[in-house]
Amino acid sequence: MEQPANHASAEFAERMRAFYDELKAAVSPESVSATAADRLVYSFDGSKQQGQAEVVVTPVSQDEAISTVGLAGKHRIPLYPRGAGSGLTGGAVPTERGIVLNLTRLNRIVEIDTGNLTATVEPGVICGDLDRKAAKHGLFYPPSPGSADYSTLGGNIMENAGGMRAYKYGVTRDYVLAQKCVLPTGEVFTTGSHAVKNVTGYDIARLLVGSEGTLAVMLEATLRLIPQPPAIGTVLALFGADEDALAAAQDIVSQPLMPRAMEFMNDAALACVRNYRDLPQLKPEANAALLVEADGPSLDDVREQLAKMMDVCRAHSPLSVETAFDEAERAALWDVRDSVSPAAYQLGDYKISEDISVPRSKCLEFVRGLKEIVKGYPDPPVVYGHNGDGTLHVTFMFDGQDDPRIPAVEKLVEEMFRLAVSLKGSLSAEHGIGLTKRKYLGIELSPVEIRLMKALKRAFDPDGVLNPGKIFPA
Ligand SMILES: Cc1cc2nc3c(=O)[nH]c(=O)nc-3n(C[C@H](O)[C@H](O)[C@H](O)COP(=O)(O)OP(=O)(O)OC[C@H]3O[C@@H](n4cnc5c(N)ncnc54)[C@H](O)[C@@H]3O)c2cc1C
Repeated sequence: MEQPANHASAEFAERMRAFYDELKAAVSPESVSATAADRLVYSFDGSKQQGQAEVVVTPVSQDEAISTVGLAGKHRIPLYPRGAGSGLTGGAVPTERGIVLNLTRLNRIVEIDTGNLTATVEPGVICGDLDRKAAKHGLFYPPSPGSADYSTLGGNIMENAGGMRAYKYGVTRDYVLAQKCVLPTGEVFTTGSHAVKNVTGYDIARLLVGSEGTLAVMLEATLRLIPQPPAIGTVLALFGADEDALAAAQDIVSQPLMPRAMEFMNDAALACVRNYRDLPQLKPEANAALLVEADGPSLDDVREQLAKMMDVCRAHSPLSVETAFDEAERAALWDVRDSVSPAAYQLGDYKISEDISVPRSKCLEFVRGLKEIVKGYPDPPVVYGHNGDGTLHVTFMFDGQDDPRIPAVEKLVEEMFRLAVSLKGSLSAEHGIGLTKRKYLGIELSPVEIRLMKALKRAFDPDGVLNPGKIFPA
């Protein structure tokens, strides 16, 4: 086992040495790395925030993970749990010298229980892999973040990931029944139950959802599955103005219609996609798009639902409304939406991308207010997202992290958060607070709430070993 270079204080170095001595006896040498390459690679996440990993432990068994967490607690070494590192707020970034606990090799789907419609999984299972495995049993795991093909269920649970299907099916928290976790004391506990109903005491299983690795390390989770909906249909409606698209979306949500997805893209988003790839379905005159999807027990049922949704769209002067039922044709319509995030990188290699939420009926009001906020700024943001559930991603692109435009945009972002909260929304719909949003926490949370949250943190982790520097302002 290669020891890390010692650049820390003598007292920290002593604790680190003691940690190492005991770790050697508890985990195999292959599970530990302090190479410069690994320490660098595991110091980032999708936000491009950078920290400094001292050592990376990649357990091959739950016992190795339990030993590592317990020893970190015993020797008071900061420990940073990590899934795929696709988080967008720096949640997995090691802010102090410490241990990155890379959980990607704990990736067993332990059980699909078709009698009880549950799956029991380890944290490193990729979200989309569970959905595909469940589908073989006619079952469905609805949470589907845009990162479903590479983000882990551990990361999804700890960020309470949302995604494309939250409109109809809810977010990750709605599917978590039970969790097995380890505390920095080394104590292992299981919380929640495999039953659908459970009101025994406080709901710790769901409190841990969205806790961003600050309370406990998850080793196993039992998740609810539902039957696969047999039929799906998709609509792509293009509009000349974003106000028309958002008004149509608002009218859909105010009716007894239940799309499984409803995604919005503004003019800047569509311009990026056009420059990025040639998609004939994206007409040159379109300045806004709505992608709406419905599922149901039969194709006839889905056609009927989509007909009603298209009627609503047609009342708002669309340029075109296109439907698809066949998988390949649906995927072609989704290409427009799926291209937005990569296409935005044509405008720069660094982004500030926020994920505010507002009540579903307030998306139009939010976008109007946002336009006022950014009025004097020359590069309007790319706005897109799951507006069916009130989530909008507002993305500003830059040339590197030292771009001189960044300080001005940070001020706009703060105003934008205040607008979202004034509309009874939130700073973060799904990406969490992590590092990047912690300075804004007080815009949304009252001092009482912050005090209660800090008290909970102390109850789980009195020495502040787990993921220090996250959520709460410095
Ligand atoms: C292109 C793109 C699209 C995205 N689309 C969406 C979207 O639609 N919806 C959405 O919600 N998010 C989205 N995300 C953000 C990101 O993918 C999610 O936050 C995801 O849940 C992170 O999973 P991960 O495995 O990468 O976790 P990481 O980034 O590694 O970690 C996330 C957090 O979880 C903690 N953690 C991880 N595993 C454990 C564990 N076992 N125990 C305790 N704590 C743990 C970490 O400490 C960290 O705080 C997107 C990201 C990208 C790059």
